[in-house]
Amino acid sequence: MTDSRPSVPSAAELLRRYAFHPKKSLGQHFLVDDRILERIVAAADLSGREAVLEIGPGLGALTLRLAQAAWRVLAVEKDRSLQPVLSEVLRDFGNVQVCWGDVLEVDLPRMCEEAFGPRTVRVVANLPYYVTTPVMMKLLEEGPVMDRMVLMVQREVADRLTARPGTKTYGALTVAVQWFAEKVESVARVPASCFWPRPEVDSVVVRLDLRPRPDPEVTRRLSRVVRAGFGQRRKTLLNALSHALAGRDRASIEQALRHARVAPDRRAETLSLEEFTRLAQALADGVYPKSM
Ligand code: SAM
Repeated sequence: MTDSRPSVPSAAELLRRYAFHPKKSLGQHFLVDDRILERIVAAADLSGREAVLEIGPGLGALTLRLAQAAWRVLAVEKDRSLQPVLSEVLRDFGNVQVCWGDVLEVDLPRMCEEAFGPRTVRVVANLPYYVTTPVMMKLLEEGPVMDRMVLMVQREVADRLTARPGTKTYGALTVAVQWFAEKVESVARVPASCFWPRPEVDSVVVRLDLRPRPDPEVTRRLSRVVRAGFGQRRKTLLNALSHALAGRDRASIEQALRHARVAPDRRAETLSLEEFTRLAQALADGVYPKSM
């Protein structure tokens, strides 16, 4: 049987040849384990027709596998000094475009529209860990229309994404991600030895199957209540919301809590997504029948 895997210089060889020193400040921990790279691509479930957005292509190990399996790949990379490496590694792939910039600053929907036209996007990335949460939130709240995200994140973040109410790791990120994704699952645990240089933490590949994008106004209301609740997670919801929701008096908040069938002395960490959405709706409605 012939080996269909792309033949590319190893990370060690590329780093030596280009005298490249990974930058800790940019979270540069390159994946050097073929099996994990293949599991990421398998989790993305590519059939040759997908428009893929990659954040942080680095030395291009994941990028070229995505280019082999997808229709087109748009890769956003902040570190311009990787340009000669990526040019060499990706030279045989006409379906890859690298955009140089900070993913937190660029206009992702516009970039994707220019690269792919009006296509649904699949995000696949070994994320730089120093910006995992802001990148995820930017993609979910302001990103292009997407159907799935396959992301390498530090284990502690994966635990938060899949946490259940009432546990220590359940928080604002959990609720936000559950709002946008109908299914969140851990696909592979990845020890630090699969990267070079090794990170200090273990990692997990997570897959998020996304719902159609919810109404932005409803999302904004929910996000305000979730942040207010978890902003003071040791306080009761009545106290936390009274403190954080400027312009709302305590009585109307208590009324909204009761209307949403959430006891005012509960804490944010015990509320399910459904209870948070009821509460956000009740606070938005603001007027309740007398019997409530
Ligand atoms: N995809 C490569 C791999 O799997 O080996 C590299 C992953 S490395 C963990 C993260 C990559 O993200 C690095 O190439 C780094 O330069 C890039 N990066 C860091 N911060 C970024 C930012 N704000 N915007 C875009 N890329 C960034």
